[in-house]
Amino acid sequence: MGAQIQDISERRAREDRLHHMANHDGLTGLLNRHSFVMQIKERLERDGTAAVFVLDLDGFKDVNDSLGHAVGDTLLQALALRLSATSDPAENLARLGGDEFGILLPADIDITNLAVRANTLIESIRRPFSVSGHELNLSASVGVAVAPLHAKDADELIVRADLALFKAKGEGGRRYHVFDTGLENQLGAARAFQDELRFAFSERQFELHFQPQVLLDDGMLTGAEALLRWNHPVRGFLRPAAFMAVLETHPLAYEIGCWVLDESCRTLAAWRSHGLPALRMCVNLFAAQLRSGTLGEVVEATLTRHGLMPSDLELEITETIALRHEDKELAPLWNLRSRGVGIAFDDFGTGFASLSALKDFPLTRLKIDRSFVSDVCSNPHSAAIVRGVITIGRSLGLDVIAEGIETDEQVSYLKASGCVSGQGYFFGKPMPTYDFIDMFGGTR
Ligand code: C2E
Ligand code: CA
Ligand code: CA
Repeated sequence: MGAQIQDISERRAREDRLHHMANHDGLTGLLNRHSFVMQIKERLERDGTAAVFVLDLDGFKDVNDSLGHAVGDTLLQALALRLSATSDPAENLARLGGDEFGILLPADIDITNLAVRANTLIESIRRPFSVSGHELNLSASVGVAVAPLHAKDADELIVRADLALFKAKGEGGRRYHVFDTGLENQLGAARAFQDELRFAFSERQFELHFQPQVLLDDGMLTGAEALLRWNHPVRGFLRPAAFMAVLETHPLAYEIGCWVLDESCRTLAAWRSHGLPALRMCVNLFAAQLRSGTLGEVVEATLTRHGLMPSDLELEITETIALRHEDKELAPLWNLRSRGVGIAFDDFGTGFASLSALKDFPLTRLKIDRSFVSDVCSNPHSAAIVRGVITIGRSLGLDVIAEGIETDEQVSYLKASGCVSGQGYFFGKPMPTYDFIDMFGGTR
């Protein structure tokens, strides 16, 4: 009799264990994808409504690649613990695969509270994780979808939260995005275009054109800005306006940025051997290059590879990139500047950079945006901004260059206002390397 009871309870325990294993993720102990879907189904049957978050770490792959899978796994366990500790007991937590987690919000949550909850979640993950002796600073993105507003069943709800997550990551991560119906078409098209860009890069369809920079006083050539062109097999040379929005958020942006750097430095070295005078190469950076933390090493290695000095190079950074940075991302720039690499603030005056941001940022030059230069002679507001930027530059000890100069009058006005350098169609359009050599007196 006693043995029989023991038998039964052992069997129960075994069944419970099997049941638990079938419904939970082995690594984190959270619900697995299957039972998460079942929970949503039940919720929808009972209440007819459900709100779901899909959360994913920004840059988890980097941790895995650089510190190994064992550390990656421990990090996922730590993340699961953090999520459990900070979540409402009425929330259902699941690991959906990889570094993707699902959260089914409590049935009684008010839709207007979803944003608040998503933000506290994102904030909770920004506290550092200490994993296997490493202190990891991470961030996460969240996609939000609500049934029946965005989807009719559980599977569709997760797919749509996933799409919203993709969008949140595309916008730079560290944020949430709520699904909307335009997203599906938009993301479908964006994905197809991303594939096309990847193909174009592997087929070497990208090229650089170079635009001269001169001293306004005597027109002397001092530099060149490298500008990306897509030599499209059907559509011809495409300017960045046709592809930059997608490229900037493309996983390849970092690699393409490294290629631009390498190709423009290679070109500068080649110009020297063709007898062109000394000039500085100016290269636009992608946000991904700043975010990577490797910019210092990459720039140094590129200069060495082509036998160039730090002072042969200027990096251009737009206001949006500059304002979105984390302080630690600026360390390589400070370092590069102290080594003699120029750092220009591109499109200056078009964004929201405060003047105090200027002093916290390692700069050597301000670039007055084309939009102010284009009507500097006719629009008093533009003229005031142009003069203002020149004054700020002078008082902070920064060089100033005006871009987009097209006319003689603009040159005169800028010169009279104390602007030293310029760039624009008036002096030369962006052109292929051999045209540049011809124009500036080198021998081919
Ligand atoms: P940007 O850095 O502000 O580059 C100046 C843009 O103004 C270039 O457009 C150039 O062709 C154009 N431009 C120059 N002078 C004149 C002028 O006198 N009149 C007019 N109307 N336009 C002038 P582009 O080449 O189409 O580049 C657009 C933007 O794409 C660039 O703006 C830059 O933000 C981005 N970009 C270009 N190449 C690269 C690259 O290699 N890497 C990165 N990260 N961004 C790039
Ligand atoms: Ca630029
Ligand atoms: Ca610009």
